[in-house]
Amino acid sequence: MEILKIENLSKIYGKGETAVKALDDISFSVRKGEFIAIIGPSGSGKSTLLHMLGGVDRPTSGKVFVDNTDIYKLNETQLAIFRRRQIGLIYQFYNLIPVLTVEENITLPLLLDEHKVDLKHFEEIVKILNLQNRLQHLPNQLSGGQQQRVSIGRALMNNPAIMLADEPTGNLDSKNSGEIIDLLKMFNKTYNQTLIVITHDERIALQADRIISIEDGRIAKDEVIRP
Ligand code: ADP
Ligand code: ADP
Repeated sequence: MEILKIENLSKIYGKGETAVKALDDISFSVRKGEFIAIIGPSGSGKSTLLHMLGGVDRPTSGKVFVDNTDIYKLNETQLAIFRRRQIGLIYQFYNLIPVLTVEENITLPLLLDEHKVDLKHFEEIVKILNLQNRLQHLPNQLSGGQQQRVSIGRALMNNPAIMLADEPTGNLDSKNSGEIIDLLKMFNKTYNQTLIVITHDERIALQADRIISIEDGRIAKDEVIRP
């Protein structure tokens, strides 16, 4: 089953002489449960692409279908709800809210949606992420690996169909990087959660089912390594 379809996606930042074409007519589809690594030089458009897939920022032209919904036909409110329910997003520098505890950071997406926290689901995620003893800590009291696990917890609270990760291990040593990728892969394999990871780490890219190389805002190579 196809979960994502990207059609003729382009993104231009700015206008006139300073305009930057970050994405130039990109099209591809993603199967449900696929693990894709996105690689390519700095500035080639990888983060922009991930944001377009996640409904974070609107493209200049082209379409993104998630589960057959044309997401950029949604209004801002609908798009925000779609994003919180369907998309998990994690970043290199975690993007946690510094004044909120670990528990508050993880449950924040539910509170924003006025959903009650499913305590069983919360406890299950916290246990898998091994954060039981850190729930009342603030982010700056945690190691990098722990902070990234909190951001994964936050991303997982709504059981998103798609997990998008922008250099999730870019700030971690190899031991912590391995732990983070193993966690993301576990959710990918066990729950069939579609996983798209931007990475500069070849060891991570080679664990994916498929590697898409981006150069100058275009797909330079799209290679299935595990059919
Ligand atoms: P990558 O993730 O591959 O490093 P990005 O998607 O971050 O690439 O950036 C692609 C291009 O778009 C770069 O030239 C970058 O400078 C430009 N760019 C990214 N975000 C913005 C923005 N908000 N405003 C203007 N230009 C941007
Ligand atoms: P790692 O090797 O995982 O990066 P660290 O050496 O950064 O771990 O931290 C080791 C332990 O000390 C971790 O369990 C972390 O929670 C705790 N810790 C790190 N920094 C702080 C801090 N500023 N305040 C309280 N606890 C901390």
